[in-house]
Amino acid sequence: VPLATIYTYPWDLDDEGVESALDVIQETAGLNGVSLAASYHISTYFLPHNPRRQIYFGEDGMVLFDADETRYVTTRLRPRTSHLVDRRDYLSAIAQAVRRRGLELTAWIVYCYNHYQARNYPECAKIDALGNHNHAQLCPSNPDVRNYFRELTREILDQTAAQAVHIESLGFLRFDYGILNPKILTEIAPFDRFLLGLCFCPHCVAATDRGGVEGDRLRREVAAHLERSLPEEPVGEARAEVTEERRSSAFGGALDGYLTARADAVTGLYEEVAQLLRARNVRVECGAVRPGRDAVTGLIGERVLAVTDRIASGFPGSGREAEIIRAQKQAWPPHVQLLPSIQGADLNEGGDLLNRLRACREAGADGFTFYNYGLLRSAQLRRIGEAREAWE
Ligand SMILES: [Zn+2]
Repeated sequence: VPLATIYTYPWDLDDEGVESALDVIQETAGLNGVSLAASYHISTYFLPHNPRRQIYFGEDGMVLFDADETRYVTTRLRPRTSHLVDRRDYLSAIAQAVRRRGLELTAWIVYCYNHYQARNYPECAKIDALGNHNHAQLCPSNPDVRNYFRELTREILDQTAAQAVHIESLGFLRFDYGILNPKILTEIAPFDRFLLGLCFCPHCVAATDRGGVEGDRLRREVAAHLERSLPEEPVGEARAEVTEERRSSAFGGALDGYLTARADAVTGLYEEVAQLLRARNVRVECGAVRPGRDAVTGLIGERVLAVTDRIASGFPGSGREAEIIRAQKQAWPPHVQLLPSIQGADLNEGGDLLNRLRACREAGADGFTFYNYGLLRSAQLRRIGEAREAWE
């Protein structure tokens, strides 16, 4: 049976009563999987059918289980348990209820995007060429961050006995990702944005050195470029999108050496987490992957795909399902399953959902993910159920 899973926050199940919420997921929406958030980033939520909190100001960088402090005595970073977690078995009892019904359980883990950890452990955050410590993003090259992620993953598997993990933000993020209430009122040249997103923490500098490029010298050159360029209005060529060729040739080729070194480091971390999952027979899921060295995340697509079981990708626009799904199936190795991700806007009245899902299946989609239980209205959850023929 093709997988049809819905991203879900544990509080939406707990607030509503786990069994009655799972009835809605399984009976009303006709789904056969739950993708349960276990580690999550800052958000403010509108939860239209939640009986206890329709507006919820979330905590930043929280874990949604009662973390066992003794597991983190050797890691610098310590998990921040959400105030919503009011008992030892908060997450494990929900996970057990999901599995007891025969629903497939995916644990959904957010990694580097974490304001709490970046703020409290600034030495573990990304540090740009100008020396600014990022307040939203951890550096995946930092060994303390990597140790923490390994232990966090293990604890979540132990707490949930999940059959799969959705890996989110296990890589570098773009410069402005997670900036709260930005006051960026003037244009920043695309190349400068790219450079501002690079990390020059001691670990990234050391990795660059090992790759044969002097990391601190490159940092000084990038800083000098930014100090010259940022005050100026970008005009003409400076406004052009950054090409791979520009990245390869900039700073006398040193930037390319830096990007190669960081790609190897961050892809190695993804592989480590994936192997940790696979050793326990847990399937590895992530978002869309591009071939080659991704300029933003640093991840090397081919290496990621080799250890990934399935990809939750975008839901193609109406009428383009067959073309896009076929192209993705061709671009990715045959062992990788493709799960188009359906959003709230696709679930409004008159949306022809069933035919769009069928078109995806006929073109080779292996299942679907839906986003997200607590954020959708009850009418939208009913519409998912009305389209269940697409996967049943
Ligand atoms: Zn770094």
